[in-house]
Amino acid sequence: MRYPVFATFDNAALLHNFALAEGLLGDTGCYVVGKSDAYGHGLLRMAACLGNRAAGYAVIQMADAERLRRAGFTGDILLLEGVQDAAELCDAEALGLTLVVHAPHQLALLEASRAPLSVWLKVNTGMNRFGFAPERVPEVLARLAVLSHLRLRGLMTHFANADNLDSGIDVQWQRFAPLVAESGLPFSAANTAAALRYPQTRGAWARLGALLYGNNVFYPDRRYLPDTRPVLALCARVVSVSTLEAGDSLGYGATFTAERPMRVAVLGCGYGDGYPRQAPNGTPVLLHGQRVGLVGRVAMNAIAVDVSALASVQVGDVATLWGAATLGADEVAAHCGTVGEELQCALTNRVPVVVLNAEESAAA
Ligand SMILES: *Cc1c(COP(=O)(O)O)cnc(C)c1O
Repeated sequence: MRYPVFATFDNAALLHNFALAEGLLGDTGCYVVGKSDAYGHGLLRMAACLGNRAAGYAVIQMADAERLRRAGFTGDILLLEGVQDAAELCDAEALGLTLVVHAPHQLALLEASRAPLSVWLKVNTGMNRFGFAPERVPEVLARLAVLSHLRLRGLMTHFANADNLDSGIDVQWQRFAPLVAESGLPFSAANTAAALRYPQTRGAWARLGALLYGNNVFYPDRRYLPDTRPVLALCARVVSVSTLEAGDSLGYGATFTAERPMRVAVLGCGYGDGYPRQAPNGTPVLLHGQRVGLVGRVAMNAIAVDVSALASVQVGDVATLWGAATLGADEVAAHCGTVGEELQCALTNRVPVVVLNAEESAAA
């Protein structure tokens, strides 16, 4: 079967990135952040590759935790936003999950239950979405301390600007560090950007997504770990080659007009597959190892690229739209005003995924 559009998931790249993360983190544990189906990579594909080499996964939806358990994962599963009601608390107990407690209603649920669960107490240090205010933490810790059925894992927080080179974590860290010092508890604070940029935030458990998937959250300003590799790539085949004369326009809305005779290759992928419709003329695509530029508007299942500089493009040739070593999702995303993670999450489940280096798996 020659798919017009497909993605590749590279086990070797994931294991490589994971080893780099382990080297970076040393004694710090690593939650593999697998929300949104592992940033579009496929949560179970991740788990099948990493096996029990991953000590923990962090997800948001109960259904994802359930899928991991059903796939045989026996390690730590953290629900990043905790549970919302008593029924979910029961599910969490049955599945043996670790919960974030970020709000009074969740504390009340735990106080009304005898479920033996592990919990991280989330502190709001400035993100202002989830978490107890720093001044409330001593009181909440006292309430948790009398709940002998719980195992308190430590304090958690999340940074708003760890990846912003003009700003950073200073204000949030000044609110968090004293609580850690006073309580003597382990902590989990670092996402990818903080783990790379601020070693003091690594704590007992870091929560890493982007780094493991090979994304550079500092693109284009900096690269802290130059050796990470993209795990997921979006590929499309040439489904038609055509020629334009000077003055001919191309595609919906005629947003591109040839200034001189040129050859274009039509690729069998579009916004219906998850390629961003807002990608402008000139967005890079890799074909025959060369960069060619997008021309015309992205359609539902077709895009076109200028292949005038390539001698021998034929129907059936494979182009990489993002996820190559020389064309990361971050770079393509920057052309579209977004981040690589959004492109990855946008991949629809109609796109077949081919696992590369499937024999390389920590689970095998
Ligand atoms: C998504 C998420 C992370 C992972 O962030 P990356 O930048 O992808 O490493 C960590 N912590 C929380 C609470 C998150 O929601």
